[in-house]
Amino acid sequence: MKELALIEQIRRSFAASRSKAVALGIGDDCAILRPPAGSEVLVTTDFTLEGKHFRRDLHPPESVGHRCLARGLSDLAAMGATPMAAFLSLALPASLLADPKSRTWITRFFKGLRALADQHHITLAGGDTAESPSDAILADIVLLGAAPIGRSLRRSGAKPGDALYVTGSLGGAAAELSSLFTLNTFPAKISKTVNHPQTFPQPRIAIGQALLRRKLATACIDISDGLSTDLAHLCRASNVAAELEQSAIPLHPLTRKLAPDAALNLALHGGEDYELLFSAPTSTRIPHQLAGIPITRIGQFTRKQAKRPLMTLLGLEGTRATLEPHGWEHFSLS
Ligand code: ADP
Ligand code: MG
Repeated sequence: MKELALIEQIRRSFAASRSKAVALGIGDDCAILRPPAGSEVLVTTDFTLEGKHFRRDLHPPESVGHRCLARGLSDLAAMGATPMAAFLSLALPASLLADPKSRTWITRFFKGLRALADQHHITLAGGDTAESPSDAILADIVLLGAAPIGRSLRRSGAKPGDALYVTGSLGGAAAELSSLFTLNTFPAKISKTVNHPQTFPQPRIAIGQALLRRKLATACIDISDGLSTDLAHLCRASNVAAELEQSAIPLHPLTRKLAPDAALNLALHGGEDYELLFSAPTSTRIPHQLAGIPITRIGQFTRKQAKRPLMTLLGLEGTRATLEPHGWEHFSLS
């Protein structure tokens, strides 16, 4: 299949997909975007590299397409933005283009990407396609979103005394990945009833928008790198310290078959849970749910002090332990 035929296939598969902000999509030299009046444009890019972010023998192609888009959507969610358009640069090994059977990988990749794009009213408005010089699949996605001028949620607004909240539950992505490693294959049928926090994460777009619209959060970050690592980012950006209450941390159901210590470890450091972490003054009433997802208060921010740890874990028996950022990279090949 020539590059042109592939682009035509991509164009066709997104032809019916619409985003109000895209005046002109795939097919010309540039796409044309029309952000809503009074908004500014937010941009985020993410690399998806075979062997680093996914394994072709473990992740179904639909999952790779889904995750490729989910990462950028989670960044837009963290700032309260409304998704506008995605641009995808793809390098594909020649072996994937060789025969109809290998091409099904590409078709299924786009099926996964398209399904999540439709869910969030974002469309693929352009990109670039090239043959990969190696046998690795490389995808670089750029996402654009819109938010009212000056109103985007940032990492830098948390104040000492603010409460700390998290959406959904934690540790699920790492737990699913570890059972994938054990099975060493993906279950043949993807059950719609069981959720898949690692293979099909659900970025919290509606929650980010609600936090922005209802002026609930003083700062926000997504925790794709793990709670401990991303909380440290938020603390540094806001120049505050944080205390986490161990008993309050919502554990994902997939972690329940693990020993309590192991489950806590995944929730704190496992990473790839596409949830939001945000701060709000204690005087702000935060709903127990936003967009159908539970919101849990898991700690508070305090004044940063020299010689005091940036992050403290308040244990079950009233213990205090320094919490180090230990989010990790699942596919680090070193
Ligand atoms: P150019 O040579 O002007 O860069 P291309 O032939 O690379 O044009 O692309 C033609 C059209 O197809 C453009 O609108 C481009 O954005 C789109 N396109 C190419 N590759 C992809 C891709 N992987 N995903 C989405 N759109 C793509
Ligand atoms: Mg091009």
